[in-house]
Amino acid sequence: MSGDGDSRDAVLRDFLTWLEQNDPDGGWYLDEDPVEMPAPVATPEPAIPEPAASAPTAPDPTPPERAAATVAAAPEPVASAAAEVPGGLAKPRRQLPPLDLDSAFKRRAEIFVAETVGKIARQSGAGGLAADPYLVEAGGDKAAALARLKAEVLPCTACSLSGGRKNTVFGAGDPDADIFFIGEAPGRDEDLQGEPFVGRSGQLLTKIIGAIGLGREDVYIGNILKCRPPENRDPTGVEVEACEPHLMRQLAIIQPRVICCLGRIAAQTLLGVDTSLKRLRDSVHFYAGVPVMATYHPAALLRNPDYKRDTWDDVRRLRVLHDALLEQD
Ligand code: SF4
Repeated sequence: MSGDGDSRDAVLRDFLTWLEQNDPDGGWYLDEDPVEMPAPVATPEPAIPEPAASAPTAPDPTPPERAAATVAAAPEPVASAAAEVPGGLAKPRRQLPPLDLDSAFKRRAEIFVAETVGKIARQSGAGGLAADPYLVEAGGDKAAALARLKAEVLPCTACSLSGGRKNTVFGAGDPDADIFFIGEAPGRDEDLQGEPFVGRSGQLLTKIIGAIGLGREDVYIGNILKCRPPENRDPTGVEVEACEPHLMRQLAIIQPRVICCLGRIAAQTLLGVDTSLKRLRDSVHFYAGVPVMATYHPAALLRNPDYKRDTWDDVRRLRVLHDALLEQD
């Protein structure tokens, strides 16, 4: 499929539509039919004007204390995932199609990656993301460990949101994913179906992931909260505090190479900061030693098409960083 010219053209057409769409309320092709995931092919570079923002150079503002403290909430994490999990954490990976980047973007992305790799090296003394006990007990079988955790989380009543939910939305995707997308909380469609990002914004997320050569089956998608807040209001501090250990344990099982927060709430909550999303997007951050990037929530793109170009830059940098980190293995 990756060498199919028609598929490639279809992906390009689709993506140009995505970029050029300027009506926030109507006309999204996503409204019409369930979205078929784009074929994982090389995506020709649409003509995108140079963004105003330059490559990120700001130092990582993320206080490490929060990550360390929060992960400690997981039950007795094992100190070193790589050392303690039988069979190690290596996995066979499918060959992803290369991204076709213009030279200017490629230069900026290379700077970003170099800076990030340097920051990761400096983070290495922080201990990293400890392996979850279920992962150790499952002999490194992430799917089994995640299934065990899911069975525990689904009936959770640790906060009042349990009273209004139709379904607990645990998360979905590859238990061995290298990229973990984190949103804020389930919405109406997600609550009804028990799956993350399945409404309009979820379909757009699928497109965005596809545009960088990945499928939903290649990544893991979850939320800060597992149950829907009424009227989709922002999570409260009490709810976040109650639910965060579930997310931490998902991370401690999946052991992603990079986290991508979708939207301000997810990024601020995970990182424990109140920095604007614009600033958070400008730099890589860290959660328990795992690099964290932030971009717009797909729902924000549906409301504000002007954010699409920035999002396209963000996700391309995400893919470039992903590739660079895997090359180090
Ligand atoms: S939101 Fe999280 S903590 Fe609250 S009931 Fe749902 S799963 Fe439990």
